This record gives sequence, structure tokens and C-alpha cells, in this order.
Amino acid sequence: MVSTTFKEGSLFYEIRKCNHQQVVFCNDEDTGLKAIIAIHNTTLGPAFGGTRMWEYKTEGEALRDVLRLSRAMTYKAAISGLNLGGGKALIIGNSRTDKTEALLRRFGQFIRNLNGSFITAEDLGTNNRDMEYIRMETQHVIGGHESSNAANAPSVTARGVFMGIKACLKELYGSDSLAGRSVAVQGIGHVGENLVHLLREENAKVYVSDINEERVRQVAKKFGADPISNNNILDLEFDVYSPCALGGIINSATIDKMKCAIIAGSANNQLADENLHGQMLLEKGILYAPDYLINAGGMINMYSELSGYSKKRTLQLAENIYEVTRGVLKKSKTENIPSNKAADMIAEKRISDIKKIKASY
Ligand code: NAD
Repeated sequence: MVSTTFKEGSLFYEIRKCNHQQVVFCNDEDTGLKAIIAIHNTTLGPAFGGTRMWEYKTEGEALRDVLRLSRAMTYKAAISGLNLGGGKALIIGNSRTDKTEALLRRFGQFIRNLNGSFITAEDLGTNNRDMEYIRMETQHVIGGHESSNAANAPSVTARGVFMGIKACLKELYGSDSLAGRSVAVQGIGHVGENLVHLLREENAKVYVSDINEERVRQVAKKFGADPISNNNILDLEFDVYSPCALGGIINSATIDKMKCAIIAGSANNQLADENLHGQMLLEKGILYAPDYLINAGGMINMYSELSGYSKKRTLQLAENIYEVTRGVLKKSKTENIPSNKAADMIAEKRISDIKKIKASY
């Protein structure tokens, strides 16, 4: 008899833990391809997720990463009202030395064999040229052609974060005006710079920090922002702290130091531990705009490309993040639960509601 319980750490234990639908291991000796495609949930539509190329220390680490990232895509799509499911792909290898046309096209064939249940796009370690190769083997890829709008993603993401910040201000101060409000943006790369622009347009007092000091100088000068040291950003008092660099930045040590009223930024996986640190923020009275909700602009931008890109419609979808964030914060307050938990519940409810109506087609 086949055992229905799986030992902790086993392959199926990991896959069942977050209820993944399908995980595909792609192997091709001739090209050296070793990849994993994870499809978390396709209730709302085909699973969408970028393809990362990364050298993982262990296969277990790669598997856990792709499972975690694909699940997050399900929640991001669901809360943003998109008809997409969550997925992600990882090609295991060095993106500078191991990439070849044959490897990418072979990977494209694996996607083709999934018959549209998974759609991919560029991500960490992959680019538009790589998508071109994948496109030679499958149509289930976004980008990979000259008229691709993938380059708009950071500005759409920044727009969503901006709307998330405004929703938090409205909740806390009764007005969403940024005039005179202090905002510290940590990480002024593609998204951060666009965000600084939007904030300054509405006369916010903006502080910028980055590990790249040259960038800090440039961006501060360009938009009239104030440079601050990356080392003591948490010691200072701001209305809004906007992490736009790395994940894991909200943890027990940093929460202890924080003096901001609101956290709202683009970085993925900001909470080092979702259960523990969401609750700690609630108890400390810091309003947290869930990262996967307010940084959904990149996904929204890709989604628009699936249905014939319209800049206006894309921005409308990103601006809707304001209302969704308001709903999340309201639920968090009424039920006295962390905002990240409230967002999860709203996303899960949409998936469950749509699952029910699909059963009656
Ligand atoms: P980016 O690489 O263009 O910019 C990141 C910036 O952060 C760089 O300027 C880098 O020097 C700086 N940085 C790195 N480590 C830092 C540290 N420890 N402290 C301060 N600054 C640091 O990336 P991006 O596209 O602007 O994305 C920023 C974040 O938003 C990432 O976490 C990304 O996953 C997330 N995100 C981006 C998009 C998008 O559309 N690009 C969408 C959703 C989420």
C-alpha cells in the first residue's frame, strides 16, 4: 500500500505543504539543462511566473525557493484581481557562463509541453534575449520580441507602491496627501527611482539611501531628495519607510529600532517571518502595506501584455492597489489581525469563490 503521509523534508512533503498542483523537473543531458517549474494554483487562470537562473548550493534549496516563489505569485495575482494563477521556474546554473541558445530552447520545449498551464517571463538572471530563445519553442512566454513592454515594469511597480503609500496615509491621517510627509526610500534602483519621482511630484519630503553612494548622489540631485546613510536609516523618524532593495528587512531586530509610522515598499518578502513579524508590527502600531499587494505592478504589467498592451489600462490596474490596500487595512483593523494576514485571507477568499463558480460551468 502506498503511504499517504510524507516525512518532513521529503519531496512530496515539501510539495504538499503549500498545496502545489504540479512540479516539473526538467532534465536534458545534451544541453546541461536542469530546471524546476512549479505550478502552485491555476484556479484563476494559467500559472504565471518568471524564470530565474541561479546557482543554488543544494537542490533542496532550489526546490524550496521555487515552491515559495510560485505560491506568492498565486496570492499576488488573486489579490490584484488578475485572472492568473501562480507559478515560477528556476534554471539551475550560472546565468553568465551556463546560458546557451540550445539550453534555453530546450527549456522552452518543456514549457510548451505544459500546454499553456504555465506562462513565463524574464526574472533574475534572465533577460529579453533569453525569452526570444524560449519563444522559438513556445508561445507561452511574455516578452522576447521588440515591442515587449517588460521594460515598463519598474515604473508600473512604483505606481502601485505609491498608491499603497497613499492608502496607508489615508488610513492613519485621514488624508492621502503626500505634501510635507516624510518618506525614506531604501534602495533607489529601477523601482526606487521611479517612486522618488512620484513622491517628489506630490511634494513629499523624500530621503534616499542605497549601498551605491554614487546613485544616492545622482537621484538626490535629480529629484531634490535628501541623501541619508544606509546604516542608520532605521534610527530616524519618518512617516513612511519604503524598503525597495532586499527582502527579510523586517525582523525582530529591525522592528525594535523602527520609528516610522508606516512601512510600504516594493521589496519582495520583507517580513523575515510572516507570522511572527506581521504580529509584531501590529503590536507596535506600525502600519504595514503587504509587499506582494503593493508591488504587484510588475505582474500587472505582464498581465496587460497578454491581452494586447494598453498603458492606460495597465496604470488603472496599478492604481486600483489603493482601494485594495484600503480594504486590507480595514479588515486588519476591524479584526485586529496583521495586515499581511488580512491580505492572505482576501486572496484566499477570491480563489475559493471563483473555484465554486467554475464548478457550475
Ligand atoms: P534594482 O536592482 O534595480 O534596485 C535595487 C537597488 O537596491 C539597487 O540600487 C541596489 O544598489 C540597492 N541595494 C541593494 N542592497 C541594498 C541594501 N542592503 N541596502 C540599500 N540598498 C541596497 O531592483 P528593482 O527592480 O528596483 O527592485 C527593487 C525591489 O523590488 C526588489 O526586491 C525586487 O524584487 C522588488 N520588485 C521589483 C519589481 C519590478 O518591477 N522591478 C516588481 C516587484 C518587486
